[in-house]
Amino acid sequence: MAPVAFIGLGNMGNPMARNLVKAGHDVRGFDLSPDALKVFGEAGGTIADNATAAVESARIVVTMLPAGQHVKALLTGVGGLFAAAQAGTLFIDCSTIDVETAREVAEAASDAGMLMLDAPVSGGVGGAEAGTLTFMAGGPADAFAAAKPLLDIMGKTIVHAGGAGNGQAAKICNNMILGVSMIAVSEAFVLAEKLGLDHQKLFDISSTASGQCWSLTTYCPVPGPVPASPANRDYAAGFTADMMWKDLKLAQDAARTSGAATPLGAEASALYALFCNRGGGPTDFSGIIRFLRGEA
Ligand code: NAD
Repeated sequence: MAPVAFIGLGNMGNPMARNLVKAGHDVRGFDLSPDALKVFGEAGGTIADNATAAVESARIVVTMLPAGQHVKALLTGVGGLFAAAQAGTLFIDCSTIDVETAREVAEAASDAGMLMLDAPVSGGVGGAEAGTLTFMAGGPADAFAAAKPLLDIMGKTIVHAGGAGNGQAAKICNNMILGVSMIAVSEAFVLAEKLGLDHQKLFDISSTASGQCWSLTTYCPVPGPVPASPANRDYAAGFTADMMWKDLKLAQDAARTSGAATPLGAEASALYALFCNRGGGPTDFSGIIRFLRGEA
């Protein structure tokens, strides 16, 4: 098996790369952080001196980076990885980035004779560790087919969403639903508190009625009804409010450029901005309920 290069060994990338190592792949990893490299090396990964060295002998390159500008800077242009890799190498970008940059990078990949897939994930650090992520992939069918065996190791649900950028489109549409629905569920609990309606009673009724949704039944923002939800551990993330705000901003950027009307998405983005700017950013995104209550 040809080596796999993995660039970006942060909170998500590290456990994803370690799952590839566990499955028997020779993984050449690189990150700017020496601490991240150390954890990866201790798990049996091969530490590369730099990103170019990581991709030289690889036929598949996975990237898991913070944002679009990092992906574009690393992959494209003179000295970029498209110029360094062997022709026909498959690039899988699992970062969450803006649709426009994803499509631009895919075009640059094609011009350089590379295969490219945008494949952002949902499932968080827990899903990355357990190998149960959901991958939403955009790109040509041959790139998807070539990537599928690797994605199957790191994830449980792998969906081909269409052409280049459609993985990112699916990710921001899904997370816009999530951000809006978490605010809606939180507002309902805050109103119930004011009206003297018990959390558990509202949960028992709405979880089997038309208010049912993931934000209520899996990720309930009050402690008690769903013991595994972050509300039961003082809103330790989970999925941080900062990450939710990032995805809502990406959705708003895409709504503006495409002309889609997303008024609730805009409101959700503004509410998460306020929550994050007041210090809520590193906590779980379901902690927005505390902000809606007016808690300090
Ligand atoms: P992170 O900040 O922990 O990791 C990013 C890593 O990229 C860092 O270790 C950083 O040093 C490295 N990096 C940046 N530029 C680099 C470069 N040029 N070369 C090599 N390494 C470089 O972030 P994360 O939580 O792992 O998230 C990664 C991506 O996954 C983001 O796009 C995020 O939106 C997305 N995501 C995160 C979660 C989550 O729960 N954390 C869930 C879904 C999607």
